[in-house]
Amino acid sequence: MTPIEFRRHIHRHPELSFVEFETAAFIEGALAAEGIECRRVAGTGVLAKITGCGDAARAIVLRADIDALPITEATGLEYASENEGVMHACGHDVHAAILFGALQRLNLSRDFEGTVFGLFQPGEECNPGGASKVLAENPFEGYDVVAMVGNHTDSGLEVGQIGLCSGAFMASNDELRLYVRGRGGHGAMRDKLNDTVAAAANIIAKINTLNSNDLVLSIGKVQAEGATNIIPDLTYMEGTMRTFDQSLREQTWEAIRTTAAEVDALFGTTTEVDINHGYPCVVNDSRLTEIARTLASESLEAVELPKRYTAEDFGFYTIQYPSLFYRLGVGRAAGGSHTSAFAPDERAIAIGVDFMSALVYKLR
Ligand SMILES: [Zn+2]
Ligand SMILES: [Zn+2]
Repeated sequence: MTPIEFRRHIHRHPELSFVEFETAAFIEGALAAEGIECRRVAGTGVLAKITGCGDAARAIVLRADIDALPITEATGLEYASENEGVMHACGHDVHAAILFGALQRLNLSRDFEGTVFGLFQPGEECNPGGASKVLAENPFEGYDVVAMVGNHTDSGLEVGQIGLCSGAFMASNDELRLYVRGRGGHGAMRDKLNDTVAAAANIIAKINTLNSNDLVLSIGKVQAEGATNIIPDLTYMEGTMRTFDQSLREQTWEAIRTTAAEVDALFGTTTEVDINHGYPCVVNDSRLTEIARTLASESLEAVELPKRYTAEDFGFYTIQYPSLFYRLGVGRAAGGSHTSAFAPDERAIAIGVDFMSALVYKLR
């Protein structure tokens, strides 16, 4: 099976995070047909293993995510989604196909040093993400992982461009939910109530000042079911917080709680702060990034990318292993990811296969 055939099959049969049952079975079948050893990981993930030469304990992990999104496809492609309301709109079908192609090639040569793992990871789009589930199973125990490698399609880059960023590349992502509770009442009898709406407004104004060049914090939803003359018992709000710095991230969790407590003291309210910890920052190893930059410059075009405030569960791997996460140009005509019209240029797949398999010989 060619990587493009592999990609089109997965594209036609997309599955949402953590229910990639048919996708995983398909991947297992395709690997078995190539004589590549594999096993399940994190439920609906597949972990392939190919042993090269030399020290087998030295390992490189190549990772692709395999889940799709709850979007109804509108590309009109002949291999468009047959699963109503589900679509590979983030290019994870392309990532899986590139990984498959790289494994196919490495399995035929087997002349690289050490062991290569091919990790088809489930549930990237769904907090807390499949990466943390994979790591909880400790599948690389006993191996010295010298590089964890992943890529992502990028429709801001043309086919043939590889986007790289050394150091902190993608932000951490935490979900904020605040429940401001108090004694509601008649809006005209303020001495008999705790104004949960005014307290919430104060919290928003104060935590907004935490925004900086290294951190974004936004409240995107505020719900107070009162009326012109009714202050409700509860004002609810939710938002997102993203940063490139783990210690700043932890300080800000604390600052939000402190702010809520200060406002509560003023208004007599009780605020419950629920912070759902999402993906950590994606941090690229500078040495691995330099190797990738040199390789990309040889036959493709290496593009320096700025930091991104989007998040990716690949961040969990970057905490544990020297890591490289790069972006693969799929052409501006592909349109925006996470939209019903997203259609990456398939010429990027062969380029992705060449680049990923070549990296295995260079990274050390
Ligand atoms: Zn996505
Ligand atoms: Zn994605």
